[in-house]
Amino acid sequence: MAENPVEDPSAREVREIRINPIVPAESVLVATARSMRPKKAEELAPRDTRKHVETCPFCRGNEAKTPPAILQLPAAGDWQVRLVPNLYPVLGDDREAPNFVFGLQQTIDGYGRHEVFIDHPDHGAAIQDWSEAHLALVLRAYRDRMRALFESDPRLKYVLVFKNFGPAAGASIPHTHSQVIAMPVVPENVGAEVTNSAEYYTKHHQCIFCALIGEALTFEATIYDRASGEVRRKVNVGQYVVERGEKFIAIKPFASRYEWEVHILPLTHQSDYLAVGEADLADLARVMRRTMARLDAVIGGAQYNFFLHSAPHDGKEHGASYHWHLEICPRTSIPTGFELGSGLFVNTISPELAAERLRNVVLE
Ligand SMILES: [Zn+2]
Ligand SMILES: [Zn+2]
Ligand SMILES: [Zn+2]
Repeated sequence: MAENPVEDPSAREVREIRINPIVPAESVLVATARSMRPKKAEELAPRDTRKHVETCPFCRGNEAKTPPAILQLPAAGDWQVRLVPNLYPVLGDDREAPNFVFGLQQTIDGYGRHEVFIDHPDHGAAIQDWSEAHLALVLRAYRDRMRALFESDPRLKYVLVFKNFGPAAGASIPHTHSQVIAMPVVPENVGAEVTNSAEYYTKHHQCIFCALIGEALTFEATIYDRASGEVRRKVNVGQYVVERGEKFIAIKPFASRYEWEVHILPLTHQSDYLAVGEADLADLARVMRRTMARLDAVIGGAQYNFFLHSAPHDGKEHGASYHWHLEICPRTSIPTGFELGSGLFVNTISPELAAERLRNVVLE
């Protein structure tokens, strides 16, 4: 007998709309039956795994091909991480464009900063191939750059750190890199998380993210069908946990938009990524690197977007109700008309099964 007979997909197909507890508008249709699959698996364009490419502007030795570095780590000797301005910024501070309203047309000045972290000297190095120390260096650089940007200009309300890895995730330059965009507005999805978690806090005097972590670590229940007495649903302790460190946890959200989506959160409440301490970085790097290795093993070459959601610096108080997190969204399929037209994400693998497969990967 299988250990989790109820979660076994061959025993029970899932077809239900799952409400995202933090942003209910971002709900997900989990439909695991093969015949129901409304989208096809993407033919992943192969990722460039070379170590050094002579013509690549981000490879060592080609530093002159990028604008001068804003920052280089370490400051002397061979660099491990370089921060450069984006050559084609989506937001910038180079020109003054006044806000504009005409009828229903409204624009806000695209003021901000757009920078690129060349996050590893090796051209095609995936995070699971980096050392934990290197990943910790990058995670520290994110924090320090976010702080410097906020301090540089009070008009900046949000700094988004994200990474597109692989052509399937929209990476335009194959050399591994992450990006930083500082903007004068709070992005809509972060705004929704902030508002809804504040509402939850007012009602329950608890952070909703802490509540989610608590549920993931303690919840256990068997729900029976009243009429037939059959098991309708089984919730096992830890069934959404992918990786757990001393201070951080990687969780498969119950309402995952993407088949292999995983979120990493600090186990103890913390709203702002700027508050991550030196002692935390090593554990964060360890949890994240192991999570990436699990994803890569299960997907067979993970291409993904990740983004850091942290408390906005918009002059309001979010310290008690918001909880920063890293959302990792591997790209394995192309959204179809159904998803684009309905705004409903379709996930064809049950998050419980996905979490189990990720957990079962044996890491060295
Ligand atoms: Zn390169
Ligand atoms: Zn919390
Ligand atoms: Zn988020």
